Amino acid sequence: MRYLIVGNGAAGNAAAGAIRRRDTRGQVTILSDEPYPAYYRPLIPSLIHDGAGREALFRDELTTPPEVEVRLGTRVTAIDVPGKTAILEGNERIAYDRLLIATGASPARPFIPGLEGDGAFTLRRIDDAKGIAASASGAKSATVIGGGRIGTKAALALRHVGLSVAIVELLPRLVPLQFDETASAIFEAALQGEGIALYLGRNVREIAREGTRVIAALLDNGQRLPADFIVVAVGVTPNVALARKAGIGLNRGILTDSHLETSIPGIYAAGDCAETREVVTGEPVVSGIWTNAVTMGGCAGENMAGGDRTYVGAFGILNALELAGIPAISVGVVNPPPGQGYEVEAIRRGGSYRKLVFRDHSLVGALFVGEVERAGVYTTLIREHADVAAFREAMVAGRLTYAPFLKELPLTTTAYAS
Ligand SMILES: Cc1cc2nc3c(=O)[nH]c(=O)nc-3n(C[C@H](O)[C@H](O)[C@H](O)COP(=O)(O)OP(=O)(O)OC[C@H]3O[C@@H](n4cnc5c(N)ncnc54)[C@H](O)[C@@H]3O)c2cc1C
Repeated sequence: MRYLIVGNGAAGNAAAGAIRRRDTRGQVTILSDEPYPAYYRPLIPSLIHDGAGREALFRDELTTPPEVEVRLGTRVTAIDVPGKTAILEGNERIAYDRLLIATGASPARPFIPGLEGDGAFTLRRIDDAKGIAASASGAKSATVIGGGRIGTKAALALRHVGLSVAIVELLPRLVPLQFDETASAIFEAALQGEGIALYLGRNVREIAREGTRVIAALLDNGQRLPADFIVVAVGVTPNVALARKAGIGLNRGILTDSHLETSIPGIYAAGDCAETREVVTGEPVVSGIWTNAVTMGGCAGENMAGGDRTYVGAFGILNALELAGIPAISVGVVNPPPGQGYEVEAIRRGGSYRKLVFRDHSLVGALFVGEVERAGVYTTLIREHADVAAFREAMVAGRLTYAPFLKELPLTTTAYAS
């Protein structure tokens, strides 16, 4: 059996491992258009400031499984579905019996007058981080457009190399998808304490240049933020071009069934490029989350090698983050819409915050800032739609222990032990 994987990120790498565990003899090939071995993408901001975590960029768990061929710097330009071959740049063809598309996502680039040109970066790949680092040396100031996970990490990295940094975020809070106002307020104070200027609920209307050089970001309220360069971090778009050309079913991402197979038998999709179902709400979701990509890759790989594993669904929100030394974890529904039967229990004590969201007898969301112990058990309870009525009080009080669940719930105990 010839297995071909396009993309050597979290999903592609996990898929190769899962295939190898089931099929020790088949030929497994991973193609990556990047020149680097698999790396932990969330840590690339550490390349900007030579910071902690840099040594973990090429993590042990991303080591290529044995007897897997990885071809770096190799771009797939098309898939010939009837011929069961991938076509590479330069027209080389590689035949497959099972194909995984794990091409990830690309940063979105909003239309802002003056943005196109030198001095405007996005941050997705090692080479992007290296480009930003090169611009930062010799620069005095930078503006980051977008106050989400990537924007805040980029801003902190730039601040650590001594730049004057501003974040401009359209919504009125930081990390708006994963945080609520209270969590945001804790991080606003922390980022401002680091010397980062925040412009929340504001938009960049133009990038001012002198010749080709970026000199400032102009805001919708007329404010002018001097900037030697710009980092744009306003979300990502799934990489679906190969699938589209091949006639594979698409919505926002590549459509997959419960086994992560696409509309074309033998072709699977996983990770940031794939569209699956949200584990809590059952809604279609294209996830931009590392752990989802790993579990999707593992499931797809197992099924490619003859397994019969149903994908449990992706968390729309599942994020572990540390900013300015403060850890935060958000899982499931953290900003529930009003009037749909959600109940919220939230407690803030100084710099720490716990919020639990319930619906019927289940926990459907959790947001922790400062103290994030035992977040794993909450994540499992949410994923398993467990009936937590009897434990709700203990959960709210932060006295949850693993013991009752091991006895009461028909769950895999390994999930709790992890
Ligand atoms: C700065 C930053 C911070 C982040 N922080 C977090 C975080 O805190 N928590 C979290 O959960 N997630 C975070 N993420 C998101 C996380 O990194 C992604 O969800 C994850 O990497 C998705 O894995 P993937 O395998 O689907 O795609 P990717 O990791 O993007 O891998 C896809 C690979 O496919 C390659 N490829 C694409 N097209 C082709 C082609 N035609 N031919 C060959 N190769 C191709 C790409 O170059 C890439 O190497 C962060 C991402 C960034 C950039």
